[in-house]
Amino acid sequence: MPPKDVIIAGGGLAGLTCAIHLSHFGLNVLLIEKNAYPKHKVCGEYVSNEVLPYLNSLGFDPFEYGAKKIERLAISSQNGDQIIARLPLGGFGLSRYTFDNALLEKAGSKGVICLKDTVSDISFEGDQFRVETKENPALYAKFVIGAFGKRSLLDQKLDRDFMESKAPFLAAKAHYNGDYPEDLVGLYNFPGGYCGVSNIENNALNLCYIADYAVFKKYKNLKEFREKVIFKNQRIRDIFEQSEMKFDKPLTISQISFVSKPIVEDHVLMCGDSAGMIHPLCGNGMGMAIRSARILSDTILTYFGDQSVSREEIEKAYIRQWNLNFKKRVYTGRILARFFRKDYLSKYLIKILKIYPALLPMIISSTHGKPMKAI
Ligand SMILES: Cc1cc2nc3c(=O)[nH]c(=O)nc-3n(C[C@H](O)[C@H](O)[C@H](O)COP(=O)(O)OP(=O)(O)OC[C@H]3O[C@@H](n4cnc5c(N)ncnc54)[C@H](O)[C@@H]3O)c2cc1C
Repeated sequence: MPPKDVIIAGGGLAGLTCAIHLSHFGLNVLLIEKNAYPKHKVCGEYVSNEVLPYLNSLGFDPFEYGAKKIERLAISSQNGDQIIARLPLGGFGLSRYTFDNALLEKAGSKGVICLKDTVSDISFEGDQFRVETKENPALYAKFVIGAFGKRSLLDQKLDRDFMESKAPFLAAKAHYNGDYPEDLVGLYNFPGGYCGVSNIENNALNLCYIADYAVFKKYKNLKEFREKVIFKNQRIRDIFEQSEMKFDKPLTISQISFVSKPIVEDHVLMCGDSAGMIHPLCGNGMGMAIRSARILSDTILTYFGDQSVSREEIEKAYIRQWNLNFKKRVYTGRILARFFRKDYLSKYLIKILKIYPALLPMIISSTHGKPMKAI
């Protein structure tokens, strides 16, 4: 295959968004994804409207795929005490099964070559990248975007330092038939974690929880963990007990961590969760993945518009923009997650929010950005 302008390793939301954006402006893009589409992913499946104007301008309208409009948030402490507030920007509920696949089709229609293969190594030699995969001969490109998610074997291969630190969370999700207010997204805390509830297309309900592995490992399996820990919050017990699972069994992932990562590693430009992850409690990881894809695409396009700009300048500009856009919200997310992990603090916070309800939209806004402009 002749050398590409850009090779994207990983075809989740970050990779697919970069592929559509860059190909829209005429770049020659190859996207490599190890899994076949469509595929379910462990995710809360609530997407902030922060990204909606931008997605629309890329030619994607979630409501054409049956997304549910979400306008309110319910948040409850471990004892079930809850507050409901209007979301400042609102959002939509759409499964990753549908979302990622729809973006893949959009990328294909823009001329992006999508290869089903696993990237096994990336090296930088003589101002171009060599990308090794499991099944194809070596591929070459001017830029490589690392969009391979929160944790990949590729992180190990690239010798990324964060792989040494603890990854203490696990998560599970499944779709259900259930009755939950359509415009509501719920965050229900339990000891060592929280469960997100969101309506998605086809009148399904997505129930997704993330938990501290140290708490989980005391129990034999997910069922026992649900009954003995998650159901301590009566509200989430009621939702589970009144819903019927559509999957054969829940989908699970482990080794989740929220440590900081370098944004550029051996000249590979990291995007989405590969660059950094906000705590899912903030419900904005997908928003961040899509926004970082836009920032990165705009930065790469400046190089192709004016080749007197050096690679070093491109990398510095991207790191600067990433930090400007996300550093503060990732930090706020970490503090919030710590607050909700402690029962007494979460009770106290809900009490304060009940007295001063205007505080909740302010907290939510601090973990989100302004609506993204169209391209
Ligand atoms: C429990 C949980 C709940 C969440 N809930 C929400 C929510 O409600 N709202 C929200 O906005 N965010 C949520 N998030 C965050 C959100 O899921 C992520 O931020 C988002 O998926 C990041 O997209 P991405 O494209 O960076 O990574 P991913 O979507 O993970 O995509 C990475 C892709 O790279 C591929 N890949 C990996 N290695 C290779 C390789 N070597 N070669 C080729 N391909 C490879 C993978 O197969 C995958 O498809 C949640 C996260 C978790 C863990």
